[in-house]
Amino acid sequence: MNLKMSTNVILNIFIIFLVLKTVTELVLNVLNRSEVLANKDKVPEVFRSVMDQATYDRSVEYTLAKNRFSSIETIYDALVLAFIILSGFLPWLFYGLQNVLGTSLLAQAFTFLIITVILSLFGLPFEWYSQFRLEESFGFNKSTLALWITDKLKGLALMFVIGVPLIWVVLKLFTQLPHTWWIWGFVFLFIFQILMLVLYPRLIMPLFNKLEPLKEGELKDRLMKLARRTGFKASTIQVIDGSKRSGHSNAFFTGFGKFRRIVLFDTLIEQLTPEELEAVLAHEIGHYKKGHVPKMIIISAICTFLAFAVIAWLTSKAWFFENFGFNSASGMVPVLILFVLLSSLVTFWFNPLMNLISRKHEYEADAFAKKEMDSPEPLILSLRKLSEKNLANLTPDKTFSAFYYSHPTLIEREKAMRRD
Ligand code: ZN
Repeated sequence: MNLKMSTNVILNIFIIFLVLKTVTELVLNVLNRSEVLANKDKVPEVFRSVMDQATYDRSVEYTLAKNRFSSIETIYDALVLAFIILSGFLPWLFYGLQNVLGTSLLAQAFTFLIITVILSLFGLPFEWYSQFRLEESFGFNKSTLALWITDKLKGLALMFVIGVPLIWVVLKLFTQLPHTWWIWGFVFLFIFQILMLVLYPRLIMPLFNKLEPLKEGELKDRLMKLARRTGFKASTIQVIDGSKRSGHSNAFFTGFGKFRRIVLFDTLIEQLTPEELEAVLAHEIGHYKKGHVPKMIIISAICTFLAFAVIAWLTSKAWFFENFGFNSASGMVPVLILFVLLSSLVTFWFNPLMNLISRKHEYEADAFAKKEMDSPEPLILSLRKLSEKNLANLTPDKTFSAFYYSHPTLIEREKAMRRD
């Protein structure tokens, strides 16, 4: 009787959280859609010099198409998660795999990864549609089905090569140090994350893309001069062939300390003038100079620590296993799977906070670029051009952008840079 009652409570809490998140996502989409529709007929005055009418119409169409797609995907994802959690599918899959593979630590690591792969299959049709229908119809898709499948298979192989040893170590700690395993697990994973910051651009990115040092010439001289001027000793500036998969353009910054590197998309180099590229690079160097990388590492470490604490707490709670259809002697893997599936129901609500921090960093990097370029104009011009080329939504809803945008909107960035 007692168990039955708590079963209802736990599963009801799950349903309430799932409905709350799904409804919020749909409402945010509706808000954004109506804001775009309200501005759809004419390019708003402030954006006359950013987009012509034809491009603006296209950006509205693109935003609305993505909005529709996102709402359908949100509903589908909620139904899939409800099915996975409430139907008994998960324990059935887990014990089925356990019967075949056994219960050794290695088998448990494989069980976890195989279940993760099977669960990810539910989203595959949407990924395909997004790339080959949605992006395709706006000219952004540059990938082929063969390349897309190859990417998926490489990702899968990588997941097992990295994931099996990683999970094996955590499971080993769990069996050897029943009380303190989660602290050691956190330390281990934290070191792994730091290592990945260094290794990812060196070992993993090259598996998917070609990275080349920026060619000698006016552009490189200009960028290296900026790097020297700002005290950012860049060993190389690399160019990645992003055009292989997508027409969208970007620049990013990875690593830290002497492992830092700046990567420019080839599409970006095509779209911007050398002066505009210099401003974009100044912005990226701004992230480094303002200490954004260590700040983000600390935030990520806190999140990882909390995740381990929650997982450790749950592995000792029989009611948690039982309510989701597992018996409490099933080890840590069911808790890990449930954690992966359910944590976004809680972390979703922290999106606005994380994006607030991210947008604050963007403003700081913009201000740095403005100072280094002696003028806000080059960066503003490049941001305008990128908005145009990427068919960015120029009129997002305020609540929507507060929730989802890791970067301030174009108008917000211009205003901040033109102030003082
Ligand atoms: Zn930035």
